[in-house]
Amino acid sequence: MGGGDPSSQVKPQADYPVRAPKPVGQLIPRIYKDRIGQFSAGGQWQEHNLLAMMYEGVASGEPHVQLSVWDAPNLSRPTFDEAVSHEFKKTSVGQSFGPSWSTHWFKVVLKVPEELRNKRLVELHWDAFNEGLVWTEDGKPLQGLTGGGERVEWILPDSFLDGKEHTIYIEMACNKMFGNSPGGDSIQPPDPNRYFRLDRAEIVAVNPDARQLYIDIWIIGDAAREFPADSWEQHKALTVCNDIINAFELGNKESLKTCRKIAEQYIGPNVNSAKVYDSGKDPVVFGIGHCHIDTCWLWPFAETKRKVVRSWSNQCDLMDRYPELNFACSQAQQYKWLKELYPYTFDRVKKKVKEGRFHPIGGSWVEHDTNLPSGESLVRQFLYGQRFFESNFGSRCQTFWLPDTFGYSAQLPQICRLAGMNRFLTQKLSWNNINKFPHTTFNWVALDGSQVLCHMPPAETYTAAAHFGDVKRSMSQHKSLDQDATSLLVFGKGDGGGGPTWEHLEKLRRCRGISDTVGLLPRVHMGNSVDDFFDNLERKADSLVTWYGELYFELHRGTYTTQANNKYNNRKSEIVLRDVELLATIASIKDKSYKYPKKDIDDMWETVLLCQFHDCLPGSSIEMCYDDSDELYAKLYKTAEGILKDIVKVLGYSEAKPATAEQGVALNTLLWNRRQLVDLSEDEAAVATGSGSVIPLLPFELYKSEHDEPAVSLQEKSDGVFVLENNQLKVEVEGGVITSLFDKSEKREIIPKGKKANQYVIYDDKPLYWQAWDVEVYHLDTRKEISGGKTKAHEKKEHRVSVVTSTKISDLSSVETIISLSAALDGEQSWVEVSSKVDWHETMKFLKVEFPVDVRNTEANYESQFGYVKRPTHYNTSWDMAKFEVCCHKFADLSENGYGVSILNDSKYGFATVGNLMRLSLLRSPKAPDAHADMGTHHIRWAILPHSGSLGPTTVRKAYEFNNPLKLMSSLAGLAPSGPASFDTPIYLTGDSNPSLVIDTVKRGEDDEDVSRGELPKKEGRSVILRIYDSLGGRARGTVGTTFEVAKVSKTNVLEDELEEVEMGDGGRFAIDLKPFEVATYKLHLK
Ligand SMILES: [Zn+2]
Repeated sequence: MGGGDPSSQVKPQADYPVRAPKPVGQLIPRIYKDRIGQFSAGGQWQEHNLLAMMYEGVASGEPHVQLSVWDAPNLSRPTFDEAVSHEFKKTSVGQSFGPSWSTHWFKVVLKVPEELRNKRLVELHWDAFNEGLVWTEDGKPLQGLTGGGERVEWILPDSFLDGKEHTIYIEMACNKMFGNSPGGDSIQPPDPNRYFRLDRAEIVAVNPDARQLYIDIWIIGDAAREFPADSWEQHKALTVCNDIINAFELGNKESLKTCRKIAEQYIGPNVNSAKVYDSGKDPVVFGIGHCHIDTCWLWPFAETKRKVVRSWSNQCDLMDRYPELNFACSQAQQYKWLKELYPYTFDRVKKKVKEGRFHPIGGSWVEHDTNLPSGESLVRQFLYGQRFFESNFGSRCQTFWLPDTFGYSAQLPQICRLAGMNRFLTQKLSWNNINKFPHTTFNWVALDGSQVLCHMPPAETYTAAAHFGDVKRSMSQHKSLDQDATSLLVFGKGDGGGGPTWEHLEKLRRCRGISDTVGLLPRVHMGNSVDDFFDNLERKADSLVTWYGELYFELHRGTYTTQANNKYNNRKSEIVLRDVELLATIASIKDKSYKYPKKDIDDMWETVLLCQFHDCLPGSSIEMCYDDSDELYAKLYKTAEGILKDIVKVLGYSEAKPATAEQGVALNTLLWNRRQLVDLSEDEAAVATGSGSVIPLLPFELYKSEHDEPAVSLQEKSDGVFVLENNQLKVEVEGGVITSLFDKSEKREIIPKGKKANQYVIYDDKPLYWQAWDVEVYHLDTRKEISGGKTKAHEKKEHRVSVVTSTKISDLSSVETIISLSAALDGEQSWVEVSSKVDWHETMKFLKVEFPVDVRNTEANYESQFGYVKRPTHYNTSWDMAKFEVCCHKFADLSENGYGVSILNDSKYGFATVGNLMRLSLLRSPKAPDAHADMGTHHIRWAILPHSGSLGPTTVRKAYEFNNPLKLMSSLAGLAPSGPASFDTPIYLTGDSNPSLVIDTVKRGEDDEDVSRGELPKKEGRSVILRIYDSLGGRARGTVGTTFEVAKVSKTNVLEDELEEVEMGDGGRFAIDLKPFEVATYKLHLK
């Protein structure tokens, strides 16, 4: 049907009367549109409209529905077997269950009454306003329930329609889809004392015609409401709806069929099955079912495990009824939980994966944050994710799936390509609250030039309800129509909603029917996978626009800072794991009896990766989640400690602190030459110098006499005014702030005249809504300086001096700050170190520390994964201004030609540089969704590192060193170390290598026969994996040296697939040549 060809419609009729028989009026749009709503409205109309014919019979109460319950004690979440072993007590509809987070198991005995047995569709309707899971009598999870009118129906199998009693169990979880917040604001901290009333438990016979008609008029009604008023398609929709309502006769089932027949004029005759998609016409919108389950957020990890089984059971069930449904689901961690806890459902999923209907996607361990994790963490998200998918489903993912995260690292495209993925789907940038991101489909280009094909669904949601409007917006909001008009529509309820519902699928059938019958609506298609969609795009990839560098998210900037302790744990555990892998690699090769602790390493990485979930690490979860992550990290540290203790022994040392420099050594896990002071005791220090993993110590006194007398002094110039001075720097401190920092070698004052560095400032921090997530631009207008107390001398040692200042932040909060300067050692750039202890009890305040510096540049540098990014220091455009708070890793740097200043930190991620003012973000105090976020004591370290030249290897290495202090060890039995051989490092870059190169990771090959845990086929022999990157963005050549006996070297991707063999030189050395910001992985096959 079409409206464009009047000649085919308006033929003169022979019986056209001469005189008008009656007046005919126009439809008055507003009134006739409102009438459509009334046809299926509740309240005063529901007894008289379509709803009154929805059900053909209802049976509730005994003997049809017999209920008994067992309440799980102490908020436990027992298994099916445990639960059903208990005695169940009789209960009934109308009872309440709680408190929040408790679990209640119901035994439900159903007996379908005679009059409902021959009905076409019989369901159990269960609603307790909380989440539930239907189990068979013998313990198979069948389907999830959401509650509150959402997903409350479970279809009774035909075998239940025999008049006999049948038993099922329902596991009730006392939380809603979005947790347990009080009132209507879901991000408020949970109320621990909520109770849920079992409102409905009844057998219902549904009239399928009424249900179908309900969807028909919903969608045609949408066309009447949402199509433009100047289109004939809109007017046609309005008349069809009114014709349907006119034809409806209350109580007459036949009239439902008549109504549906009228609907066909608009949606066509095929919407009752997947046949509607067989028209052969070219679609532009591709629907893909999805269920975004936050791995923790407004509920703990333990509840997510159940959300997964509820949701995915649902999808397996729905697929049996809707052959067009394709469902994509990410996060290997969630699959692993399902495999361990619900093997029946995991098998069901596996079957659907095999059928090509259920699509594991994403390639990562969880849908993680990408601002804060280290480069190696991003690599491991994919290594662990892809290995899980490959070993369980036989193939890796091609698409990185990350709809919901708070900004995108500029190195992601490179890491994706190295992890076997060349496509990327995300959506969150549509939440930008300053500038609109200009593309829907584009090539996204990393720092090193690697690209991925990126698509951001134009419906601007990853939990679409498959509305008419979602399909319409898939075209109207598409920003890349010049290049390609296709798009993905990612639909399905997230979290506790269980993914797509039957309603979503029915609505999409009608949308397709409309496109093929009347047109105007973009043609939606079902049955394709995400990979099919991208395959098609890939063909025209070279014509798509490009976006270089990070995808900065203009919202949720508070997530670089909120939940400081969790962020500290992330940084620390990344460093611990680096140490463990490096040292365990050395130990396992040095001593064949030492077993590489692969299981412990896997468990530790899985903890780190899990806690990088996009609501966990960013700080946007409830308090319970951080209690869980604290526990997980504590376990990780304990495991690591045990491993390191064993390794130190294998290496021939003990962890006891040496009494003298001669008896001790320093453990160096950075693979470059270090010269650093270490404290032997309260007064004594030594200098560790060397490039090995184990570095000898020289007593400081001795070092001094052998070198040009490094010294440091502390002088009280006047009352409370101190000068700290070494051979390189002269620092003046008064009232806790640095009033002068003079670089003696460059003869340059760093602090502009009259300015104060290390100045604490506090801001009002009340964002528009998302408290834990957002800091809004206007907070900058509320800056208040915090005046420090009187500065006092703290340490006056031969090798280090320091001053201390106690500062009152408010009546509730305070900070004690130690500013220290150590003796400068030959060839090592000196820094001013600050260590603070903050006692923090504020409400909606933001604490930062400022460093005005006499350096000018329109761009500042911020360390990110495997490199750094530049961001503006000005507010020229709204795009520049939007970056008023940005993410950094171990350093931020402001340099001009010839000179610069870097600020190093040990656990912080938020930063801003405005003009020549550098500002490190320290602590926030949002009250939702965690009412106690960041309250308590925090130890934070940072340093001011001035340097000659622009940003260079000095900053990169000092930032590593600041985060990886040398660890002291003793020779076993107090003996002197057994000679120079023990000081060798087995892996190093030779001295003539470009200093921008960093060996970041040293580990054993995943599938080495002595390491493998058997997920994937073992590989013969032993190997060592090295990950090296160019940190500064230039071509970097170097030579890797090793004391391992190497037979062959291959360059690999991050999944350790061998790509090419590398030519070897003498003694196991091999040359490397990296492109700017390249991340290169090498596999050393040992003899
Ligand atoms: Zn999310």
